[in-house]
Amino acid sequence: MDDKTPYLTPGMVALVGAGPGDPDLLTLGAVKAMQSADVVVHDALVSDEVMAMLPEGCQQISAGKRGGHPSASQKDICDTLVQLAKEGKRVVRLKGGDPFVFGRGGEEAARLAQEGIPFRIVPGLTSGIAGPAYAGIPVTHRAVNPSVILVTGHESADLVSSRIDWQGMGRASPVIVLYMAIKNLHIVTEQLQKAGCPADMPVAVIRWATTSKQQTLITNLERALEDVAHFRIEPPAIVVIGEVVRMRQELAWFPDETLTSLPSP
Ligand code: SAH
Repeated sequence: MDDKTPYLTPGMVALVGAGPGDPDLLTLGAVKAMQSADVVVHDALVSDEVMAMLPEGCQQISAGKRGGHPSASQKDICDTLVQLAKEGKRVVRLKGGDPFVFGRGGEEAARLAQEGIPFRIVPGLTSGIAGPAYAGIPVTHRAVNPSVILVTGHESADLVSSRIDWQGMGRASPVIVLYMAIKNLHIVTEQLQKAGCPADMPVAVIRWATTSKQQTLITNLERALEDVAHFRIEPPAIVVIGEVVRMRQELAWFPDETLTSLPSP
């Protein structure tokens, strides 16, 4: 696209990833889209620092849970995007992390495509990769793992236990990154141990990754559940399971709070 083509035209929607929180992790595309927006429809996970970068006079519509209000349904969100675009607005749909990684961006884009509304996708840094990086954990490391699995722990407990092949995953990949993991963590840790993952396999739980509130719990498969309860870790948090977690000892660089009940090495 040449420089003279506007990034966002009237009646167009940009599905934009806002990254995990630190505004330094916004892409130039995200900033351009935000600067040209008439209206922004945002999730609760988009950080206040990122929201503060929106231009004055840009209308803000919240589509996520905040202050105890229930989140809008996916259909309502899609309807809102369609309506705003049809009104001729330049619309930014701002999502935490990357819009296509557990962000339901695919559903929103499909609806826009069906309605013939022009759109663009602006990928963002996903919390499951950028979060560990801010905790000093590379999700792949040459000597340790040739693959990594990104998986959601959300869905109902039934689905998490029946639809996801945890044991297969435990055998297939030495590193697993879990999104929305806290609620069903008991299922994951139990299933992975059944698959033969050792009880002392390192686990990191990174809460509010990349923000000034970042906390990193260092635990293991056997103790994870108890430690999450003990340190009162609540969402949003990313869980990393695998040997790469040990690299934090050398690579921790970000001033977060370390939580652990393990004896120091
Ligand atoms: N599209 C997002 C994921 C949305 S699902 C992305 O690419 O990052 C919501 C889950 O993302 C949360 O439950 C949590 O597991 C994770 N998450 C998002 N932002 C986070 C953050 N700053 N710190 C820790 N976890 C985060």
